[in-house]
Amino acid sequence: MPIDFEFTDEQRMFREMIVDFAQNEIEPLVEEAEATQTFPKQLFPMLGEIGLLGISFPEEYGGVAQDKIMDCIFSEEMGRVNAGIAMCINAHTSLSMFPIYKFGSEEQKQKYLVPGIEGKIIGSLGITEPNAGSDARSIRTQAEKKGDRYVLNGTKTWITNGTMCDYAVVAAYTDKTKKGHGISIFIVDKGTPGFSVSGKMHKLGHRSADTSELIFEGCEVPEDSLLVGEGGFAGAMETLLGARITHAAKSVGIAQAAFEYALQYSKEREAFGRPISKFQAISFKLADMAVKIETARLMVYKAAWLYSNGKRCLKEASMAKLYSAEIVQSVATEALQVLGGYGYSVEYNAERYYRDARLASITEGTSEIQRIVISRELGI
Ligand SMILES: Cc1cc2nc3c(=O)[nH]c(=O)nc-3n(C[C@H](O)[C@H](O)[C@H](O)COP(=O)(O)OP(=O)(O)OC[C@H]3O[C@@H](n4cnc5c(N)ncnc54)[C@H](O)[C@@H]3O)c2cc1C
Repeated sequence: MPIDFEFTDEQRMFREMIVDFAQNEIEPLVEEAEATQTFPKQLFPMLGEIGLLGISFPEEYGGVAQDKIMDCIFSEEMGRVNAGIAMCINAHTSLSMFPIYKFGSEEQKQKYLVPGIEGKIIGSLGITEPNAGSDARSIRTQAEKKGDRYVLNGTKTWITNGTMCDYAVVAAYTDKTKKGHGISIFIVDKGTPGFSVSGKMHKLGHRSADTSELIFEGCEVPEDSLLVGEGGFAGAMETLLGARITHAAKSVGIAQAAFEYALQYSKEREAFGRPISKFQAISFKLADMAVKIETARLMVYKAAWLYSNGKRCLKEASMAKLYSAEIVQSVATEALQVLGGYGYSVEYNAERYYRDARLASITEGTSEIQRIVISRELGI
């Protein structure tokens, strides 16, 4: 079978539709969202209406049953328009709804997945805690069984969609004696007594993203809030592999935006009597940026293709995540350099891309963790 590196007509049309939506509906909201550090919540029902929150979910739940390639096209274009907005969308779809789709009971799917795909409710995923990030098994949140209820105590930090979510998918120990194997996952509704949210966390970049702490103090949830029982945590974490590929696509989108911005500027800005793009020092920079983006994009869509075809792709997903995270930072740094002093001004987008890019090697598994995964896959 020949290797085909071209997007299909359907994929191209899908991208065009998203670019259109991003330009007309999202771009006008970006400045205010960044300035006020507030996600424009009205986007969720709008995205739901046109099926963009259900790309990888089956039609029976209101999804459009497409593959990871389509999901990556969407994520790439969202990253290109605004990283913070892209992150909140990914947190809702890939991090909070996907585990419910994968492990939820029919009732849970009807309660959370169906309205979630419609954009009527928003979800978050709470794993990270003040003392446990990469080492998720070190979380301290506990869910103690009391009759037909569980009582949650603990704090989650850095939670995307934290303040605006309607429910949180939360990891907690139900048996502390079984390291790792004693972790279960719950769905906790906002408004449940004992579940509160800290104020917004202020960040270097991704300022339009909603980030906060989730606090559980004697928070009682019914038994049927359990999503994944003991022994299932590691397997549930493995399903976040798809989110890693989507995250990489988002990084490619941010890099593409930074590159386009610098390219345009380099053609307009003149120094020593000609556009700066005519200086080899600048044109080579742009050429190198384009090569890095192209390489990362190939890695992302290869991983997405493997994933969509049900092939093992742990190594490829981590490679795509790692590489995209590294190149988005170098591309954004170089883009800022192309703008010279203006690159340092908040009046120009280059500084936003530079700040946003920095997160890529931290979330969804740091670059160090990706290297551990890749090394393991190499048999080391
Ligand atoms: C803006 C933002 C949004 C986020 N959204 C969410 C969310 O929605 N839900 C959620 O649960 N979490 C979220 N997180 C948390 C994120 O997943 C963690 O920050 C990440 O997993 C790293 O954990 P940590 O920050 O505790 O760093 P640590 O795990 O403490 O790591 C610190 C450093 O040590 C390195 N390190 C750790 N272990 C090893 C090792 N074994 N070998 C080599 N190096 C190692 C790391 O790579 C890193 O460089 C978010 C974080 C941010 C900043």
